[in-house]
Amino acid sequence: MVVPFNSLEFYKVPIKPEHELLRKVIRRYTEESLSPIWKDIELNDEIPKDILSELAEQGFFAIGIPEKYGGQGGDQISKMIVIEELSRVIPSLGVILDTTDFPVLALLLWGTEEQKNKFLPVIANGAAAAGAYTEPQAGSWVAGITTTAEKQGDYYVINGRKIFISTIDYAKYIVVLARTQPISRESPHKGMSLFIVENDSPGLIIGNKINTMSMRGDRPYELIFDNMKIPKDHLIGKEGMGYYYTMILLNFTRINIAAQAVGIAQGAFEKAMDYSVKRDAFGKKIYQFESISFKIADMFTKIQSARLLTYWAANLSEQQFKSPDKALPEVALAGSVAKIFATEAAEYCARQAVQIHGGYGVDFETGIERYLRDSIVTTIYEGTNEIQRYIIARFLPQVMYNTKLPIG
Ligand SMILES: Cc1cc2nc3c(=O)[nH]c(=O)nc-3n(C[C@H](O)[C@H](O)[C@H](O)COP(=O)(O)OP(=O)(O)OC[C@H]3O[C@@H](n4cnc5c(N)ncnc54)[C@H](O)[C@@H]3O)c2cc1C
Repeated sequence: MVVPFNSLEFYKVPIKPEHELLRKVIRRYTEESLSPIWKDIELNDEIPKDILSELAEQGFFAIGIPEKYGGQGGDQISKMIVIEELSRVIPSLGVILDTTDFPVLALLLWGTEEQKNKFLPVIANGAAAAGAYTEPQAGSWVAGITTTAEKQGDYYVINGRKIFISTIDYAKYIVVLARTQPISRESPHKGMSLFIVENDSPGLIIGNKINTMSMRGDRPYELIFDNMKIPKDHLIGKEGMGYYYTMILLNFTRINIAAQAVGIAQGAFEKAMDYSVKRDAFGKKIYQFESISFKIADMFTKIQSARLLTYWAANLSEQQFKSPDKALPEVALAGSVAKIFATEAAEYCARQAVQIHGGYGVDFETGIERYLRDSIVTTIYEGTNEIQRYIIARFLPQVMYNTKLPIG
């Protein structure tokens, strides 16, 4: 036993030639089409429509969608490669692919065949999508949500408010978590359900755009549901299972954030390395100062470790498709480990890249400081890193001793 896992089989990172081919295709695209426009995206806070069309044409929205629903049929590692490579240049594109994955996974795991046939081909064709669970009073504590969905004949009527919802500028569909039963003090996580909502549903109001420090091109919004009426067949899976489904979805999507962080770290590292071998000080290249080259060595070490953890967690998460109604502790553990390590590595690497560039590191024009701004939020969304540590602490006794110890 390789505590807490049963076997070394859990440590596979099965990279295939098609993964490397995919990486090369995206790298060529990002270098040719995205690198030249990073400043426009930062200044306009918008992803140009033709870029989203190009991503769709190249099949990047379709990567994790099976071929029978119009997708590429890629595995979870392929998805990491796409998110990582896009985030290396424009991290907010990583957000759009990540949030789109929330509805895709919800449909793949619990959607009816009719729902899959209706929504997945549209997403595969390039329609972005979003996931909305956070509320002003309930972020980490998802069980505290108060948005309600009341069944009225052939419809559900949704009322409530969500906050910090990404990709709203581009999303055609939003998967929403709401209460179908009144909140109970003993089991607040019970009685919630997931719904797929179209962006033009009557009663859906897009509120304030939240002016955050980072991820320009995809800022989050406030959403208000004012008697928003949706057909009853937009319920995903079973009524009452929404909280459990959301926890399983987050076990997947936080690995996307790890991949986004690896991309940010890699982008910052390459810039720092290039600068350090060119910049002269005291008659030497600054790389020749141990205090600089050791920073580079630490960055390199963290990035390789973060990438391996991310691909490892992504590969393990494939198991969850075989068991859609039960969160697998090993998937949750691996995802949290990857998310903590990769996002903290990204923050470290971005900070060191600024330092290595000296004054130019804090100059917007060089495009270095944006990595630092973008790295910080990766430690917060899709479950803060404090919550990831909580998940690890909660699952370890379960996996190692088959017992539950209350934590918190
Ligand atoms: C840019 C951005 C985009 C986002 N996109 C989306 C989105 O698309 N969809 C969506 O639904 N949500 C989204 N979110 C919301 C995000 O998931 C939450 O912000 C996050 O889960 C934290 O919730 P909170 O902000 O309410 O902080 P809180 O939960 O109030 O936490 C505040 C602090 O307390 C700590 N804390 C809380 N509980 C515990 C605990 N039990 N143990 C230890 N520490 C704890 C937290 O780690 C944090 O440091 C986004 C957020 C941001 C900033």
